[in-house]
Amino acid sequence: MEIKSDIQIAQENTPEKINVIADRLGISDDYVENYGKFKAKIDYNILREKAGQPDGKLILVTAITPTPAGEGKTTTSVGLTDGLNRIGKKAVAALREPSLGPVFGIKGGAAGGGYAQVVPMEDINLHFTGDMHAIGAANNLLAAMLDNHIQQGNALGIDPKKITWKRCVDMNDRQLRHIVDGLGGRMQGVPREDGYDITVASEIMAILCLASDIDDLKARIARIVVGYTYDNRPVTAADLKAQGAMTALLKDALKPNLVQTLEHNPAFIHGGPFANIAHGCNSVMATRMALKFGDYVVTEAGFAADLGAEKFFDIKCRMAGLHPSAVVLVATVRALKYHGGVAKADLNEENLEALEKGMPNLLQHLRNMKEVYKLPVVVAINAFPTDTKAELDLVEAKCRELGVNVALSEVWAKGGEGGVALAEEVVRLCEEPNDFSFSYDVNDSIEEKLNDIAKKIYHADGVDFTPGAKKQMKELTELGFGATPICVAKTQYSFSDNPKLLGAPSGFRITIRNLKISAGAGFIVALTGDIMTMPGLPKVPAAEKIDVDSTGRISGLF
Ligand code: ADP
Ligand code: MG
Repeated sequence: MEIKSDIQIAQENTPEKINVIADRLGISDDYVENYGKFKAKIDYNILREKAGQPDGKLILVTAITPTPAGEGKTTTSVGLTDGLNRIGKKAVAALREPSLGPVFGIKGGAAGGGYAQVVPMEDINLHFTGDMHAIGAANNLLAAMLDNHIQQGNALGIDPKKITWKRCVDMNDRQLRHIVDGLGGRMQGVPREDGYDITVASEIMAILCLASDIDDLKARIARIVVGYTYDNRPVTAADLKAQGAMTALLKDALKPNLVQTLEHNPAFIHGGPFANIAHGCNSVMATRMALKFGDYVVTEAGFAADLGAEKFFDIKCRMAGLHPSAVVLVATVRALKYHGGVAKADLNEENLEALEKGMPNLLQHLRNMKEVYKLPVVVAINAFPTDTKAELDLVEAKCRELGVNVALSEVWAKGGEGGVALAEEVVRLCEEPNDFSFSYDVNDSIEEKLNDIAKKIYHADGVDFTPGAKKQMKELTELGFGATPICVAKTQYSFSDNPKLLGAPSGFRITIRNLKISAGAGFIVALTGDIMTMPGLPKVPAAEKIDVDSTGRISGLF
């Protein structure tokens, strides 16, 4: 069987004009701002017009603990949206937009895969509608105003050694991780140690994704803490009078982007914060808009359910007042075998014993969704070409034996047709009433909240704090940040904070090494280790294979 590349499949597809897609959704042309023929931003003022109308059902696609084998959350989300449309439901996808970093690095594109993709995938993966640029510009304006303030006499008394705000660029560029800038003499700035983050790690990205409207965006930007004074008082973007200009730069970036799937169904692709130091979901704006125009909205959260789903529920749904109806937990035979001890190189061989051994990881995520968040769940087995029938049958049988809802998803190979079984199950689950709950009370202390997450979601025995983190916890509480949600930055490769502990480990504790406030986003980031906020390129970057021909046709983007 010839296996076509994602870009080949995407380029063979003939998309509809985006105005046709918008019209079918019920969005009038007055609100459609075209970026070429196949992409549009939708004016958020339409939400005001729709305010009194009911919302559709919200479905979260999450996954088991990731392995180098890949899980396929985006692919499943796109295929499920198409599957729901195939069975006559008005379904819309709400997804994250990709960063250039992974596009040119290891991972490649992030617009789904096989016959479950969003198009135009080249544009979505490259400049799209310029949101990343706008976020970078707003971020860097704040950095420039901050250093300028110090250069111009430093009336606020900012300690250059306590600056927490970094510049950013949308590129995997390790050369910029740690730098010294402001060199060259008295008129060339104040020399200091500095560093860059990748744009998606900027707090501006998290803020844009949590903002409920432009006024909220500005208010959040005003609250950003950029550093501390010599006497340890926080300095904000409002102290630097930067919020107005920054928000002006972001006024269009805040508008959700509309594109389509290969089967011409609508997809909002908007915002893409990191899933460790930030909450890892597409914008609240895009989700809200999708809920106003779709009866079913399929959305994805980054990493596995212990990080992505936890933050989707405890941060995004809490802040935006969203009430999800169902969860799809994506698993693959390959990833389960990896959790069962099979080496990456041997994943293509049938191994029923290892498959069974890997199941506890799936079951633990599943129980968390059901018992902690009290939502109905279906396991979607994302079928790969290398899976054997015996393997697929075994996972299905094991799930059924335990009373777990399960559906085989063949959307990668067959598009929406391969997602009909999953779609039917999802529709059924959405009819069940649920008692959606959070994993912690936001008004509890930082320590109590972290213990709740660690015990209920990671199944750890508890959390420990380094002496430094303990001090930070006290300071943040004194500054009045104690009653905000917590965003845990932890390895995505394990329930624990040790990436080597696969499966469903027990008898471990989580160590919090660092706590910092993202006051604009409105959460405390709890770091369990060093989290890379400026990735590097691998030995052979994906960029080496990307090209464009004389007609402007792009190749090599997977
Ligand atoms: P995630 O959203 O979980 O990171 P993606 O949906 O982006 O995962 O998929 C990651 C990669 O795996 C993509 O390149 C996609 O084409 C590939 N992939 C996903 N599902 C399948 C499948 N069933 N068979 C083969 N390749 C797949
Ligand atoms: Mg994805």
